[in-house]
Amino acid sequence: MTARILVVDDVPANVKLLEARLVAEYFDVLTAPDGNAALATCEKTPVDLVLLDVMMPGMDGFEVCERLKANSRTAHIPVVMITALDQPSDRVRGLKAGADDFLTKPVNDLQLMSRVKSLVRLKNVSDELRLRAQTAQTIGLQETARVDRPDEPGSVLLVDGRASSQERLTRALKPIADVAVISDPQAALFEAAESSFDLIIVNANFDDYDPLRLCSQLRSLERTRFIPILLVTEQGNDERIVRALELGVTDYIMRPVDPNELVARCLTQIRRKHCNDRLRASVQQTIELAVTDDLTGLHNRRYLENHLKLLIDRATTRGRPLSICITDIDRFKRVNDTYGHDAGDDVLREFANRVRATVRGADLACRFGGEEFVVVMPDTTPEMAAIVAERLRLAVESRGFDIPQAATVLNVTASLGIATLRPDGDTAEALLKRADTALYQAKNGGRNRVVAAAA
Ligand code: GH3
Ligand code: MG
Ligand code: MG
Repeated sequence: MTARILVVDDVPANVKLLEARLVAEYFDVLTAPDGNAALATCEKTPVDLVLLDVMMPGMDGFEVCERLKANSRTAHIPVVMITALDQPSDRVRGLKAGADDFLTKPVNDLQLMSRVKSLVRLKNVSDELRLRAQTAQTIGLQETARVDRPDEPGSVLLVDGRASSQERLTRALKPIADVAVISDPQAALFEAAESSFDLIIVNANFDDYDPLRLCSQLRSLERTRFIPILLVTEQGNDERIVRALELGVTDYIMRPVDPNELVARCLTQIRRKHCNDRLRASVQQTIELAVTDDLTGLHNRRYLENHLKLLIDRATTRGRPLSICITDIDRFKRVNDTYGHDAGDDVLREFANRVRATVRGADLACRFGGEEFVVVMPDTTPEMAAIVAERLRLAVESRGFDIPQAATVLNVTASLGIATLRPDGDTAEALLKRADTALYQAKNGGRNRVVAAAA
């Protein structure tokens, strides 16, 4: 992980110390001696994270943070406030100013690194989302990749062996999350795998159970692998924390738990989980767009050509029949010429609806191009395919197509060609070709009919 980190502190020795530690971890470090310099740097250079001293002469850290968060060009940069004293009131003020996390001086190495890494990871996914949202906007797509929406409440699983801390932590998290509480760590594993949590908090306070066992199990289960884990642990057990982070625990917090710190840490993790989920959904959407026909919502030709090969392989290895049907609307050019292209589009959409309504769920219906549609029917003999094709022909012929623009109802017919997979090394191209030849014969034979290719 590499990132550019801006260290802001009025004391040069503090700057040098943080800089040295971050450079040792291969971060790219910029420094600023005061608030104004920090704001200027963030405006003109891409910064991934700001480590911000609270007590500075002139503009203090709270004000710097407020200004960063109020500027749309810098609002997305995570800010970690460094408080001189462990002052709970500073944390409240920091949260109000929009800080994403806190560190207390003297800054402990482990804390520094886990905070920085946690927030840089979050920024990476949200940057990616922002980029996708931009692209979506540029190409005029509906924006599902938006990042700047308000925080949705997270769903948190709290694994905690003690009633008193269960109660305290749940109360602290109430404003930002729905919390499910569980005392038995083994039951927690099942609970986590069954539901969809945004964050799992493991409080290391069991009398006779090693909480890292649960963390490691959560990391190895497919269903829970990507859920962030926050470990609550006692002071002065750095070895265990290092081990936990190595196991894939995402972040940790020390007891006694400061409610504000807990809220800040949990928000970071929940945001990242939500960003990741949206990113995954946007990838999914991109894939769907690439294989879907815009006009009808059916699969497109690209998808058909790829998927037909798989279906043929499967039918061949299992020794099952497979048939396809190509259908082409009769005299469609006349619809466009008489009623206009939009009316033609309406007919195509309604035609697609009738195809969809006629075929089984296991069949693959595609718009092959123009006014040509293909249905792939696994497990279907030539006889069955003929019945389906005839049903489809009737579904088109029997009811008129509404043309609202011309306040009229149009009679539409289609011609259909069917072909069935041959058992001896048949290919998708050959199969499509035979169905197409049959379709051509249906057209020549007078249209509005089904013709089957010779076996
Ligand atoms: P045939 O019975 O021989 O199939 O006659 P046809 O007029 O249907 O066949 P032809 O292939 O000559 O014309 C197909 C027409 O389909 C031409 C084209 O303008 C129209 N078309 C293709 N794609 C679209 C589309 O997306 N929207 C609309 N409205 N028309 C389309
Ligand atoms: Mg046609
Ligand atoms: Mg045609």
